[in-house]
Amino acid sequence: MTRIFYDAIFLEHDTGAHPECADRLRAILAHLRRGGSAARCRIETPPPAPREAIERAHASQYVHALREFVEHGGGHLDPDTVAGPRSFDAACMAAGAALASVDAVLDSRDAHAFALVRPPGHHAMPSRAMGFCLLNNVAVAARHAQGRGLRRVAIVDFDVHHGNGTQEAFWRDPEVFYLSTHQYPFYPGTGARSDRGEGPGEGTTLNFPLPAGTTGARLLEILEGEGAAALRAFRPEILLVSAGFDAYENDPLGQFTLREEDFRSIGSALRRIADELSTGRIVSVLEGGYNLHGLPSCVEQYLVGVDPLGTAGTDGR
Ligand SMILES: [Zn+2]
Repeated sequence: MTRIFYDAIFLEHDTGAHPECADRLRAILAHLRRGGSAARCRIETPPPAPREAIERAHASQYVHALREFVEHGGGHLDPDTVAGPRSFDAACMAAGAALASVDAVLDSRDAHAFALVRPPGHHAMPSRAMGFCLLNNVAVAARHAQGRGLRRVAIVDFDVHHGNGTQEAFWRDPEVFYLSTHQYPFYPGTGARSDRGEGPGEGTTLNFPLPAGTTGARLLEILEGEGAAALRAFRPEILLVSAGFDAYENDPLGQFTLREEDFRSIGSALRRIADELSTGRIVSVLEGGYNLHGLPSCVEQYLVGVDPLGTAGTDGR
């Protein structure tokens, strides 16, 4: 069974004419319902993230300033990042969905929990919004897992962009392993192979910068080869996934060439890694993915890959 954490407030984070728009989630939900996958998942509303959970990953002054900004009507936080009147509440709910997903796999042995959220999170820095992201949902989730007593948390990020905010949050933290595959050089500019963490966290950041045109087969080879070997050495107690679908071949914001079914293979690979290393505990958090026609099927394929029993029997290829 896959538990999906979603709330309609995500649709109220109003970005105007922008690739990161509410239609992304509308399209995914409609597709899952049409194909029958939604009936085999459980879709639940999470509670919003408590302020103290958010502030384990973000500076309290930033969280306060973000709320004030939104209360005064919002606007642009950086050239790409927009917040409207409901955006702070939506962001707290998105972080809440990531927290609820961690609790779901820790407490009730669900095969997979998926935070179907927006705004996305992996570019959000501890003290700054960036790249469509307000709060770093997966970072809040990782801190929550640590708060629940886990000492080794892995984050795998297969979004086509480097998750600079997540890397920054755990740069010196030996308990959180951050592994990213991403197009490089590309937005946001970080994620060189030499970015490996620092101090006590040295070696628990692992980046795979890859050229435009990278295929699903190449990505899979990395995840199952060097990536899995590094995770095996780290021995995570839970696997968190920044699941971005902008590595899709027709995505307007990336130049990788993954096909829809490649996301199923990635999901299966991560499932095998979680089964081997983290007693099957795997949580995914939606990041990017901007082709409204392809995104829903990419997500569905991924869900089937991670949890074939919970989501099988769909129209997926
Ligand atoms: Zn992205």
